[in-house]
Amino acid sequence: MGSSVFVPPPVTRFAPSPTGYLHLGHVVNAIYVWGLAHARGGRVILRIEDHDRLRCHERYERALLEDLDWLGFVPDEGRHPPARQSDRLSDFAAALDTLDRQGLVYACDCSRKRVGGRPYDGCCRGRGLAREPGRGLRVRLDGEPSGDLLLRDRDGHWTYQFAVTVDDTRQNVSLVIRGLDLADSTGRQVALARLLGRQEPPDFVHHPLILDSTGRKLSKSAHDTGIRQLRASGLAPETVVGLAAAAVGLIDNPAPLRAPSVPNLFLAGGPPTQNTPPKAR
Ligand SMILES: [Zn+2]
Repeated sequence: MGSSVFVPPPVTRFAPSPTGYLHLGHVVNAIYVWGLAHARGGRVILRIEDHDRLRCHERYERALLEDLDWLGFVPDEGRHPPARQSDRLSDFAAALDTLDRQGLVYACDCSRKRVGGRPYDGCCRGRGLAREPGRGLRVRLDGEPSGDLLLRDRDGHWTYQFAVTVDDTRQNVSLVIRGLDLADSTGRQVALARLLGRQEPPDFVHHPLILDSTGRKLSKSAHDTGIRQLRASGLAPETVVGLAAAAVGLIDNPAPLRAPSVPNLFLAGGPPTQNTPPKAR
């Protein structure tokens, strides 16, 4: 953009969880991920986000890989064989060690109900609770308005926020592309990435979401927009990609759009990327 500074091509990721079937909302994310990365000469890593062993199922993983292939979104890395978060569970313990060595981790026995939807108030910071089953672990994030991040919940599961930040750090993901519903967690993820030793945290792009008729984000139970259902109804992949692009205003009308062509949407003259917050502290 007129700057003489060399900007390396981005490394980004498409990271679905095998806890359900892909729907049009995932296709929107894929359009932004492949489109932005390849328009800038970058790479897309596929990562199966299956650290939550209770909710993930192999049949969903098989289905999402098959649907992704059918749609035509080909990852540059992580497809053959599929790269799974569960293959690297020891990374989370190692990252916890890194935070522990800085004296930043403490046990917390607050229930989700007590914390509610509010920022965590740090009430367990000074309590010196022992780490034992039934207690979660948090990291001190001073000055972070949304409070100390939960790393591991009371059931002993790594949290999404922690796992995704560890993986993005390990894989040197330089551009995180995700829905606007996750924009609020950007500051905490950047702060955590720094504590994990990342000099230069990733850039974040937040894209619009497809909302259902009640104005909420599409959920996995959104049968009418499931890729399986759309396939079964006889639609072609380019029709489905076009539907997703039109649903968030990337194109005016739902014309067929082939997956390898989505970078064209983001080249000069294409739509701007939306709501990119400034790189947080
Ligand atoms: Zn607590």
